[in-house]
Amino acid sequence: MSEQLEVTVRTQCFKCGGSGLIVNWLCHNGAATICNDCNGNGYTTLEYIPFTGIKETKGIKRVFYSNEFQHVYTGKHTLHNGKTLDFSQFGCTYEEWRNGIKPIPLPKRNQTGINNPKPCPKRGTTVVDPKEERLD
Ligand SMILES: [Zn+2]
Repeated sequence: MSEQLEVTVRTQCFKCGGSGLIVNWLCHNGAATICNDCNGNGYTTLEYIPFTGIKETKGIKRVFYSNEFQHVYTGKHTLHNGKTLDFSQFGCTYEEWRNGIKPIPLPKRNQTGINNPKPCPKRGTTVVDPKEERLD
């Protein structure tokens, strides 16, 4: 495993524009206050790990596009609706994916016997009606 070196860089403070000072409606006749975001330094620090190439994930056999609430398997699996779906006919192997092959998309939910999730009116998120069949 290669060592991941974290890089720290100084970035110009967004709040004060690098001046270290804030001049606003509370400041009169040339008075200023010291920026609280950067303590008057004019910069903040950003720490990150540079991307050096995609990392290998151990134990992965097949790769699929992400479908919301879609469980994925590597071979045949019986769904809650009693239908069997052979997941090995979709997606691609991890090796293929590592070599740039694009996965074969899974069938749409309504093609596998599951209704499309409905948007939740309260939270604006998508929920699956528990009375409807689930694909898992
Ligand atoms: Zn600042």
